[in-house]
Amino acid sequence: MLFDAFDVFLFDLDGVIYVGPKALPGAVEALERLRSGGKTTRFLTNNPCMTREQTAARLNRLGIEAAKDDVISSGWATASCLRERQAGSVYVLGDEHLERECREAGLDIVDVNDAEAVVVGWSDDLTLRDIQSAVTRIANGAQFVATNADWSFPGPDGPMMAVGTVVEAIKMASGKTPYIVGKPYPYMFQKALHQAEDWSRAVMFGDTPETDIVGAHRMGISAVLISSGPYTGYSSARDYRKPDAILPDLRSLWDEGLRLERWVPPAFPWPDEIKPGVAGIVMDERGRVLLMKRADNGCWGIPSGHVERGESVEEAIVREIREETGLQVEVKRLVGLYSDPESQVFTYPDGAATQFVTACFRCETVGGALVRTGDETLDVNYFEADRLPEPMLAMHPRWIADALAEESLCIFR
Ligand SMILES: [Mg+2]
Repeated sequence: MLFDAFDVFLFDLDGVIYVGPKALPGAVEALERLRSGGKTTRFLTNNPCMTREQTAARLNRLGIEAAKDDVISSGWATASCLRERQAGSVYVLGDEHLERECREAGLDIVDVNDAEAVVVGWSDDLTLRDIQSAVTRIANGAQFVATNADWSFPGPDGPMMAVGTVVEAIKMASGKTPYIVGKPYPYMFQKALHQAEDWSRAVMFGDTPETDIVGAHRMGISAVLISSGPYTGYSSARDYRKPDAILPDLRSLWDEGLRLERWVPPAFPWPDEIKPGVAGIVMDERGRVLLMKRADNGCWGIPSGHVERGESVEEAIVREIREETGLQVEVKRLVGLYSDPESQVFTYPDGAATQFVTACFRCETVGGALVRTGDETLDVNYFEADRLPEPMLAMHPRWIADALAEESLCIFR
């Protein structure tokens, strides 16, 4: 039973412990049994409009024993995160509860023009003028921190806008990427788990795969979906949204024989998107391979890039090689189509992760001249295929070997 399998129990609130004013079936009894059984319980909520005290009080009213330190709310976590990021003065795009958490963390609440950081939460009174002033300040250098990125939540008459819609508006207008504190990002989980000695004995219960389950799996801990409806599921075995078990409610914590699939973290970060990519293997007359040093990570690799809209993969690799090296090439054949996320998920400095499905071509030079930038360190050059420079992008030696194997026509992996 799950009760025996774990020592640290993390819970989402809405949809797991309660819905509206009512506790969900078995929640009160389950929390009582966990507590009396010596288990650690923590509550993680993305809602920035309630302080930790208010959340603990709400749980207490339902008959659940909880102190403010048991609650990890996105408002409190955001204030604590801002202090760690050394933002002393903040402009709060949110309500008085988020302001209070910020003040209690020792931050000064200031006018937008004086702010070192803009904090995005939620208030029903937000105006487009407020959002515009945040855009201007962030575009001019203030930190951009958001309590969470949830787009909507269910309301009585349909979906209700949530913090993520404001975050997205600011992001689109300012061109800046936010630091997001709430689930599925790691900060709240780190706060919840910082005293836990053995994370393999920690489990998260949530009703939202995109936040609760992904967030737990990003931390490498088990995740259980609370859902009584039909489960449509995720078919890929390594999908971070796939729960390790599904329970209708917390009464099932004591079910004997409940099957829990232990989450084995894949060797790649959960990608935000998938993009088509291209790569080209170009050789000189001595059979040496054209490599370039990537500016973002200092690794050598074959020329590569992604497919622009309205472009074929063939046009894309010819363009990429021309732009990056000055050479005009023709595509001779497809070497392979590579999609293994273990080598094809790239994380960029802003934290976004993209999985590429890359068509790799053997190309032949038909014109142009090699551009060599940098005086002392050449960052575009030809190298012997059996003496490749270090560091190399991990998968490229394999692709080069595939290109050199004459029998290889098209390899899928
Ligand atoms: Mg929920």
